[in-house]
Amino acid sequence: MNKILLPPSRLGLMGSGQLGRMFAQEAIRMGYRTSVYSPERNSPAFLAGAEETVAPYEDEDALLKYLEGLDALTFEFENIPNAELNLIQKFSEKNGLRVYPSPECIRIAQHRIREKSVFRKLGLPTVAFYPITNRSEALAAVEACKFPAILKTSSFGYDGKGQTKYKSKEEFRFWAESIGCGPLDLILEEYFDFEKEASVILARNIEGKIFCFPPSENFHRNHILDLTVHPGRFSQNVNEGMKEAAIRLAEGINYVGVFGLEFFVKGNVFILNEFAPRPHNSGHFSQDAAGISQFELQVRILTGLPLPDSNPASPSSMKNILGQDYEPTSEKWMKYLSDSRYTLHLYGKSDPRKDRKMGHWNFTGEAPESAFE
Ligand code: ADP
Ligand code: MG
Repeated sequence: MNKILLPPSRLGLMGSGQLGRMFAQEAIRMGYRTSVYSPERNSPAFLAGAEETVAPYEDEDALLKYLEGLDALTFEFENIPNAELNLIQKFSEKNGLRVYPSPECIRIAQHRIREKSVFRKLGLPTVAFYPITNRSEALAAVEACKFPAILKTSSFGYDGKGQTKYKSKEEFRFWAESIGCGPLDLILEEYFDFEKEASVILARNIEGKIFCFPPSENFHRNHILDLTVHPGRFSQNVNEGMKEAAIRLAEGINYVGVFGLEFFVKGNVFILNEFAPRPHNSGHFSQDAAGISQFELQVRILTGLPLPDSNPASPSSMKNILGQDYEPTSEKWMKYLSDSRYTLHLYGKSDPRKDRKMGHWNFTGEAPESAFE
């Protein structure tokens, strides 16, 4: 059995954006000190009360000093450079620092080819995909792949960044013939003509105990999550299949922590898209609709506090507030603020740039799918 880290232990988190902020809010409420590491000063997490180490991810001295002050470490995002992930892993092995999820799991999630290969190895369905690591693989994919298809960077993509859609074989051949002989790190995925997108938020602790919310339904706008409806409206078979797939993944890679696993759904068929090794934007409904939120689950797993046997969530929905939707003086905001079914979560960011995630609304009540129309 793992020792329980009692308050006021110091919980560390790599990153300091909104997910770090919401982790810190829960951890602080539960009596823990939180300490975040990122290059950003006065970050969303710091503004919510976390201690802040401001240094580049590549600054190994600063990172080591930071790790020495922690009782446990988790992540708000997966794009930690490899050298630093190795450093964290070695430090953890040498000094017994608790790091959940394990660096191995972070490595799987940060690289689309590794990730989809792991899904396949576990017998979980994915789109047909072709690793493109050099010119000859690109040329071979011209013939092998069914179009339309999407070419993606294997790492560092988010909100649809680093993706190009190719409508036809000819269009892709034109690209493949134009590239040089240097190494590439891309993946070509056949386009899956889904009807719906879904996600499952799962939490698994060091003893292998799992808690998992029923699948949610997600709607994107310009490749950015816009609305989540919980629970999603899927057949019982699809719901159970997605939940079982999430459990198979968590057990198959010995995952410890919270993850969000994304799916595409068409009729009675579902396939896995990708997973994020941390709380997920589509799990924010749990802050107001469930007794224990995805961020509290993250704290509980990191500290070894027990996971709930059940944690039902009420019908709810979540609407993201992007820079262009940031209208605190609008009538719409006043309407939501005057209605106790709506809860506002702002991230403490001052510059409402286009497509920047500034906050979100949660709605808990009847007809959650139309709460933001
Ligand atoms: P990220 O979220 O890291 O930017 P995703 O792989 O989740 O990357 O792609 C973003 C969105 O693009 C998905 O939620 C989906 O709407 C669409 N998309 C991505 N891959 C495919 C695919 N193979 N077929 C159909 N749609 C896709
Ligand atoms: Mg995605």
